[in-house]
Amino acid sequence: MSVKDKVALVTGAASGIGEQCARKLAALGASVVIADLNLKAAESVAESIRKEGGKALPVSMDVTSEEAVNAGIQQAVDRLGSIDVLVSNAGIQIVNPIEDYAFSDWKKMLAIHLDGAFLTTKAAVRHMYAAGNGGSIIYMGSVHSHEASKLKAAYVTAKHGLLGLARVVAKEGGSRGVRANVVCPGFVRTPLVDRQIPEQAIALGISEADVVKNVMLKETVDGEFTTVEDVANTVAFLAGFESSALTGQSIIVSHGWSMH
Ligand code: NAD
Repeated sequence: MSVKDKVALVTGAASGIGEQCARKLAALGASVVIADLNLKAAESVAESIRKEGGKALPVSMDVTSEEAVNAGIQQAVDRLGSIDVLVSNAGIQIVNPIEDYAFSDWKKMLAIHLDGAFLTTKAAVRHMYAAGNGGSIIYMGSVHSHEASKLKAAYVTAKHGLLGLARVVAKEGGSRGVRANVVCPGFVRTPLVDRQIPEQAIALGISEADVVKNVMLKETVDGEFTTVEDVANTVAFLAGFESSALTGQSIIVSHGWSMH
């Protein structure tokens, strides 16, 4: 099982989970495309990977824009020759009870998580099918692909939606060796989660320590956060898996919070 000499494009790779996925895939010998809205941060991640001996190309990409996605993926193929692995990871969080959830925020959430997954998949599979070498598509789901939490109507809806998309892509791509799976992390300390802790404390009327202990980690087997390394290792396993035995699945990496 190997991603050596493969080309892997990771969206939202300038920070958090996506960054660690890119670092891990590069360490395993893949050429990685650091696709992110924040080009400056993407450039700095790419430079740091190159300093460690890896191959990395920063690309500016807003995953909600069809033009930007197509241009970024074309740029990757032109520069690196193919696209073998897509990690659709870019995401944000907006928490609010549904009666106060702004429609514009709902649309923004679905655009980044679902339009982004659709647009990057559509562009990537065209190259994968044309090259005839198969491929691996990995969606960054969440425990919220399987469970619900208060304040997260849009996030839970979007993350559940990714399961459906992955299953369709698995069926359509099966005869051409293109696999599609979802990785579902529990809470990971990234900027996305660090921002949520004070927001949830205010919305739920509890302390920040209680948000961590009694909301985020309450259902885990050991009260531990999942790490970016845990998630990146799972992504690397799926990226390098060599047959379609493992497709259309979701793997939950959450210290036992969810056991589907
Ligand atoms: P993060 O905030 O650290 O990183 C997200 C990255 O996505 C940033 O670099 C940001 O610039 C980029 N991004 C945002 N909007 C974008 C857009 N429109 N186009 C391109 N890039 C964009 O967040 P993270 O915690 O690493 O989250 C990454 C993914 O993991 C998200 O899909 C998130 O839902 C998922 N996830 C996170 C956790 C967690 O606890 N942190 C748990 C489960 C799932």
